[in-house]
Amino acid sequence: MSTESQVRADDRAHVFHSWSAQGLIDPLPIEKALGSHFWDYSGRKYLDFSSQLVNINIGHQHPRLVAAIQEQAAKLCTIQPAFANDKRGEAARMIAEVAPANLNKVFFTNGGAEANENAIRMARLHTGRHKVLSTYRSYHGSTATAITATGDPRRWPNEPVAIGVVHFWGPYPYRSPFYSENEQQESERALQHLRDTIVFEGAGTIAAILIETVVGTNGILVPPPGYLAGVRALCDEFGIVFIADEVMAGFGRCGEWFAVDKWGVSPDLITFAKGVNSGYLPLGGVVISDEIAETFRERPFPGGLTYSGHPLAVASAVASMQIFKEEGIIEHARMLGDDVIGPELAKIAAKHPSVGDVRGLGVFWAVELVKDNEKSPLVPYNAAGKDAAPMNAVAAACKEKGLWPFVHFNRIHVVPPCTISVDDLKQGLAILDEALTVADSYT
Ligand code: PLP
Repeated sequence: MSTESQVRADDRAHVFHSWSAQGLIDPLPIEKALGSHFWDYSGRKYLDFSSQLVNINIGHQHPRLVAAIQEQAAKLCTIQPAFANDKRGEAARMIAEVAPANLNKVFFTNGGAEANENAIRMARLHTGRHKVLSTYRSYHGSTATAITATGDPRRWPNEPVAIGVVHFWGPYPYRSPFYSENEQQESERALQHLRDTIVFEGAGTIAAILIETVVGTNGILVPPPGYLAGVRALCDEFGIVFIADEVMAGFGRCGEWFAVDKWGVSPDLITFAKGVNSGYLPLGGVVISDEIAETFRERPFPGGLTYSGHPLAVASAVASMQIFKEEGIIEHARMLGDDVIGPELAKIAAKHPSVGDVRGLGVFWAVELVKDNEKSPLVPYNAAGKDAAPMNAVAAACKEKGLWPFVHFNRIHVVPPCTISVDDLKQGLAILDEALTVADSYT
């Protein structure tokens, strides 16, 4: 049996995969990766336009990051969370240094869902209130409270799980839930809707507003001008904790350390994971404001994880942040968005009748596909099976040319590593351009 068939056989016999009907999937066996590429066992090379699950911000197998993990492993692999350790403190300090000025403490988790779970717990204990407001177009993770806060269809089969979450509509200029005609109107109407939701739910019952600074999997929805500042103002007015979920948007993805920097807004809690160490080891966390940290000065925080601040994971975060700084990765990501992806996608949009909208910033872009001039989505919301065929055909056309795309419902997200070269990026966009002729055939 070849290695590839052995990998497939073991996988199909014993691995239970996330989000999947186990009998209907055929996972691609991957042997190795480097930079912006990965290879399957037959030697076929793919340009990674997905950054896996939008987490390999620094690229695959960065040698300095690999070496930092090896070095830490040789010294100290694990200690329990109640101890202090050089890399744990250094990682927390470095994250606090790039966070807004009043966020100075970090609670480490193993990933994004746990970060949101604990941020909500902190907000509830800090305010003494129980409700959480989050948007319909959102994903916050698959643990109990995080999946309940999630707005997208992944929540539905899991319900009921947790209580106390109320969903509202965030801004989405292209398909405005408020029938707005421009971004300013969208921002104002979305804020009025949020204010109404707060008033009608009872401000005194609401602990937190949890939003993705830039909505990720649900469409790369960049907040219109004034929106985030407006959310901040509503939180201040009603004594609500503002939690910015930057699990996907943070650490370079938007051409900033944290996406909130783009709008100069300071939330009370920021949740992060993915890009902090590009997922080389599981790591996430919550950056905490001085005011909320103060709540837990004398009073114990009633939560914890065996692997909180795991030495290998935090050592990889320290190395990753050094690499970000020394290699100018944040600036590179910003340049890629401004000078390459934005202009190239605008040309692609002008050429293809199937492209309804392109939007994004940094290396965080969506191409939204439609089948007519009425903006009818190329496939329905939550499409699966036969309904998803047009998007599957576009994805297949990309893969055939060696491009691994990120596809969600009627959108292709352009989310390569923040370190991708201009040449590789242009090559990937050219493949996408060609593949979109398949989408055009459905219009
Ligand atoms: N929040 C956002 C915005 C995400 O995109 C994700 C994952 O994609 C999560 C939370 C959950 O993170 P994890 O899968 O590490 O639990």
